[in-house]
Amino acid sequence: MITPDELVALNEQLELMAPQQILGWAIERFGTDQVALQVSMQKTSCALMHMLSEIDRNVEVIFVDTGAHFPETLSLRDEYARRLNLKIVTYSPQQTFEEQFQQYQRHLYLFDDEFDPPGYRECCRLRKEEPFLAAVRGRFKCVIGGLMRAEGGARSSIRVLNFDPRFNGYKLYPLANWRVDDVDSYLDAHALPVHPLYARGYRSIGCTYCTTPVKEGEPSRAGRWRHIREAHPERYGQAGLYCGINLEDRVKQSGDSD
Ligand code: SF4
Repeated sequence: MITPDELVALNEQLELMAPQQILGWAIERFGTDQVALQVSMQKTSCALMHMLSEIDRNVEVIFVDTGAHFPETLSLRDEYARRLNLKIVTYSPQQTFEEQFQQYQRHLYLFDDEFDPPGYRECCRLRKEEPFLAAVRGRFKCVIGGLMRAEGGARSSIRVLNFDPRFNGYKLYPLANWRVDDVDSYLDAHALPVHPLYARGYRSIGCTYCTTPVKEGEPSRAGRWRHIREAHPERYGQAGLYCGINLEDRVKQSGDSD
């Protein structure tokens, strides 16, 4: 394990490195079979998958299939697996949506569980976080993700290397210092395919039930759980909502606004 003092010192070093160097550092420090990349098939995932493919194709790439992804998301996953020859492994929730409905007698994703439990956060916990944690607990010491400080909210204060007690390991964010433009430039420079819904007004892409396009002038996460946010404007206003698969966002969710 890394001591708290060492974590601070490591983050000071990692802050000065390029994303590819950070990936290389993680593989050397933890070992290929102790490192995984978690992807959602959004742009940051695509950039990281490409970087990883040039460093070590044996690192497992984790994709959680909630059962409600856009077909384009699944097609893009398959395209990247073929194109970059990556080891993308898909994990699924224990229950189907139908079984979940039978248990709760409601579609959890329609409700804000702050007011009417259980609701969308429980749906995300069951369909995203639990499969993710089941995939990583006892298997990986370091899980790479695509969060960037430029995304704002709680993400504005993430460190490159973060302890995650849920799996007694570390979340690594090699793009912490990048901005959306950096990601776009990287994807363009390498002629990499991106999710087709970006061209249709989507800025952040999750499950079909909880993702809408973003309107002119709205923040980039306005399209996620719009039905929840707009049903409770007094609580959420323009604040972005998160699924909680990243612990760093969970901290954000316990607050009231950005
Ligand atoms: S994004 Fe919506 S449908 Fe998907 S797991 Fe979360 S609440 Fe359920």
